Parts: sequence; C-alpha cells; structure tokens
Amino acid sequence: MPDFKWSCKFCSYVNLPGIDKCSECGLSAYASAEDIELHAIPGAYEKNKTIKKYQDAIVPFIFLPGLVATYIVKGQLEILAVVMLLLIVLLYRNSAFLAHAMKYKWVLVTFCLWFLSLFILMYIRREYVPIWGDGAGYIALLSVLVNAYGFLYLFKSKRGKELYSAYYETANK
Ligand SMILES: [Zn+2]
Repeated sequence: MPDFKWSCKFCSYVNLPGIDKCSECGLSAYASAEDIELHAIPGAYEKNKTIKKYQDAIVPFIFLPGLVATYIVKGQLEILAVVMLLLIVLLYRNSAFLAHAMKYKWVLVTFCLWFLSLFILMYIRREYVPIWGDGAGYIALLSVLVNAYGFLYLFKSKRGKELYSAYYETANK
C-alpha cells in the first residue's frame, strides 16, 4: 500500500496514503498501462472479474483427461471414484458454461486430443518403459507438457478468451 499521497493515473484524483485503489474511480495505485486501457472501457472491469470466476470454477477440469487416461490404463477403482466425484462437482457448478463450450468444435477437438495424448503416453509407459529409468522421466515430462498446453489453449489463447467472452455476453444479457 502506498504510504504517500498519490494521484490516479486514470482520473488524476489525489488519493490519501494507505489507500491502494483510487477513491474516485477504483483504479489500482499499481495499475499497468494495460490495466489503465481496460479501465477506460465501460464494464471491462466487471467483465474481467466475472470471467476470472468462470475460469476458477472450471480449473479442476484440467485433471480429468489425465485421470480418465490413468483409469483406463491401470484400472484402479479409486481413480474412477475421483473421476466421478470431480465430474459431479464440475457439472453441478458449470453446467451452463459447459453447454456453451460444447457448441464449439475446437473445444471438443482439443479435449479429445488432450485425452488421447495422455492415454497414449500412459499406455507406452505401462507396456514398454521400466518404472525407474530415463524413459519414465521423459514420459512424465511429456504428460506435464500436454497438460500445460491443453490448459493454456483452453484458457489463455485468443480462442479461449473469446469463448469466455461470448459466454459472458450470453449469460449477462
Ligand atoms: Zn481514479
């Protein structure tokens, strides 16, 4: 928190020390150039906050492809139980968003490819790679990369952002 008087980069209002959001317009004392730009668009702040909420609710979803692949390859019932539990929670919290997302072919394709890559990696791991060896390390690394890529594509890519944005527009009409 600033311990000095500061003037807002957006509206020039002079704020008292100990306040980290402008009393006049709500912009943070530490706003970046990008923040200021967004702040200037009406409703952008609310929209970003709401979209962040949608994304937080959907985050557990990224564990599903890996868990389902693990269950199919290893057949452990406790993994199936976790999958079921996760599915119930996710469907309960995100049914409207999921219904929206499934209308986009690229979302389905991404999810299928994501799952399939993990499945193939796990299968190779089970059939051909000894548990303690370089091979196992590479497979683990590849799985992490596949997960990171799937996550970034669904959340941070231009398409991903448009997906949330379009959902926000329909949900807040
Ligand atoms: Zn201000």
